[in-house]
Amino acid sequence: MYEGIRSPVIHTPKTLSEFNAIALRYTQAQLWAGGTYLMSQKNYYPSEIKDGIIDLGGIDELKKITRNDRFVEIGSMVTASQLLYAGKLVLPDILQQTLQTLASQIVRHQITIGGSLCIPDVRLALSTTLAILDATAEIKHYQNGKVSSHWIQISKLYDKDGNLLLNAEKALMTRIRIGLDFGDFQRFFTVEDPIRNTDECVIFAFQAKRTQNTLSKAQFCINFPSKAFHMSKDLESKLTGQTLPIHPEKVNSISYELVAELTKQHSNITDLQLERGRRIFESTLHALNAQELQS
Ligand SMILES: Cc1cc2nc3c(=O)[nH]c(=O)nc-3n(C[C@H](O)[C@H](O)[C@H](O)COP(=O)(O)OP(=O)(O)OC[C@H]3O[C@@H](n4cnc5c(N)ncnc54)[C@H](O)[C@@H]3O)c2cc1C
Repeated sequence: MYEGIRSPVIHTPKTLSEFNAIALRYTQAQLWAGGTYLMSQKNYYPSEIKDGIIDLGGIDELKKITRNDRFVEIGSMVTASQLLYAGKLVLPDILQQTLQTLASQIVRHQITIGGSLCIPDVRLALSTTLAILDATAEIKHYQNGKVSSHWIQISKLYDKDGNLLLNAEKALMTRIRIGLDFGDFQRFFTVEDPIRNTDECVIFAFQAKRTQNTLSKAQFCINFPSKAFHMSKDLESKLTGQTLPIHPEKVNSISYELVAELTKQHSNITDLQLERGRRIFESTLHALNAQELQS
């Protein structure tokens, strides 16, 4: 009955240098972190994988969380629940809120930070929030028998549709770095379940810094999973420098500018998603105004 089904080879490096040697030799091997995405794919049992699987779970160097007074570094094999637990005192509120939206408590024990950021074809909550926090990721590239390391901004890891841009070569995300100088106004929203109801889902993250009654910095990312991963330098610079509270007419017009940008750059977003995205954006700016008026 099981004729023809063969188990793939599973490599289990215990250190990064063991990983390097395996990655250079088995260039087609599949990296396995928490396995929650991989196991949800059709035909996930990879009996045909040429170079087998590299299980990252034994590499302790990828499981560390460290911090100094400027930034926190998180290993790619830290799980969502470990980060939530360890990060209560060090992480920005928006990141904690984001981690709490990931699946259920049980699944959060399995989901890793690297796995979440390196899904090839769909962007979810963590990428959205880390993009606006100016987080960076250390990526190791394995090419032509050599290993090299680069730090890349998380916002630059994806194309405009949200596809991961690392696929052309063998790459390992080892850790991410988040600066601790974040904005004093932050908002995160997920509307609809991104896995079960991808076509109606909108994920939105926003942070702003205020200096007296002026918006000195504003950053946002609006994400329609599998369709668009949108950040707008234009709208961010239109918001930056605005005196608070922003006039309601300006709030309204800028929210329609977002719709115009999205419609022009991304053809697959549904009308429902567009309207949801616009309202979330608009209500975030109203909340920013309200906070300013209360302070
Ligand atoms: C029921 C369920 C509901 C979920 N709901 C949500 C949700 O609401 N919001 C949300 O954001 N997420 C959600 N998730 C999680 C999400 O869909 C992915 O399953 C998860 O983020 C993948 O993490 P992982 O560690 O399991 O990665 P894996 O499945 O092991 O790997 C994912 C991909 O990343 C690659 N990879 C892994 N680690 C690295 C690395 N260090 N360097 C380079 N490449 C790497 C793998 O090769 C693979 O291609 C849900 C998952 C489940 C099962």
